[in-house]
Amino acid sequence: MLPIKIQDGHEIKKSNFLNITPSSKILNEVFQSNNLIDARLDIATKICDRFRREVEHLNNLIKATALDRSGWVINFNFCALDIFYAEAGQSLFAPQNTYELRVSLGVPVITLSVVLELMEILESTPPRIDEPENLIKPNSITVIFNNLTKEESVSDLAIELALDTCLLLYFHELSHILFGHCDYQTSDENELRAIELDADFNAGSFFCSLVSELPDPLRRPSSTNSITERLIRASFILGTILKACSTKSKKYHYPTVRVNCFVGGGAYYIRHSALNPNVTTDSQEDQYWEEQTNRIQPPLLEALRKSSLAYYAGTEIEIDKDRDEMDTITYTTRNRLKDGPLKHLKIPIR
Ligand SMILES: [Zn+2]
Repeated sequence: MLPIKIQDGHEIKKSNFLNITPSSKILNEVFQSNNLIDARLDIATKICDRFRREVEHLNNLIKATALDRSGWVINFNFCALDIFYAEAGQSLFAPQNTYELRVSLGVPVITLSVVLELMEILESTPPRIDEPENLIKPNSITVIFNNLTKEESVSDLAIELALDTCLLLYFHELSHILFGHCDYQTSDENELRAIELDADFNAGSFFCSLVSELPDPLRRPSSTNSITERLIRASFILGTILKACSTKSKKYHYPTVRVNCFVGGGAYYIRHSALNPNVTTDSQEDQYWEEQTNRIQPPLLEALRKSSLAYYAGTEIEIDKDRDEMDTITYTTRNRLKDGPLKHLKIPIR
């Protein structure tokens, strides 16, 4: 049997692409249809390079602390695609327990493009009252860095949110590998959503655990509140882009619903670590996360609804229905898979 490859984002038929190191020249070539030049090219190069440094550092850390002693290998590489795409799967021609984790150059670039649009809406005074555009019109995914003319106009906050979102996608793919998803053929849509939920949950845990290990001290969070805030924001952006980009979009949960999966994993990790934010009971813990989410998510959702990606936010009715499906079908299916075919962790990473 051919190894199973898990794909997130845009679906592609053939994934026979070169592994590359991002540079201005390569980005200019890959994003030809977006005519990425001048300040827009500079900022694309910057975000790709910063993401590369962080992800390589973490991939090496995971290799040294968990994989080497078990004889596992996870090769991280960029692929030269201008779409939002990531994949995880066993290597075709390498020894057993060698896995490939690939992320397209489109991931950091598109993520920053979306973050810049949402932040511009969040920061505009008086608030923007544009009519939301429909899904056929150009949006911040199809038109990269619209209107950006000066690199200095991109704030550190935007760069950091984009980097956090890319890391969360990396942890999501890592979870597909480490939790046996690449060795299990899903049989229907519910199982596919359950696998995605499991990857989101574990990505939330990895994020809270490893964000303090980033190479740049300025990127390490100063408090538990800062970790949980960053997780909620990054989950929302990633959920939005996955909903907007994927050919499996209709099967994906809405960003607001998906945030809860990442948060569930984050809460699980924090509960069992020294990061515990002064809560002693389960209900205090629930209250802490609810307050954090209720403070951080609504402004993002409001901005999304005013943005070029408004279509993917979902209406209140759609979100309620989606949340019901998550709580009943997706969680139940995940539990069934975790008690059955995905019972044993492929590798003891913690
Ligand atoms: Zn996935």
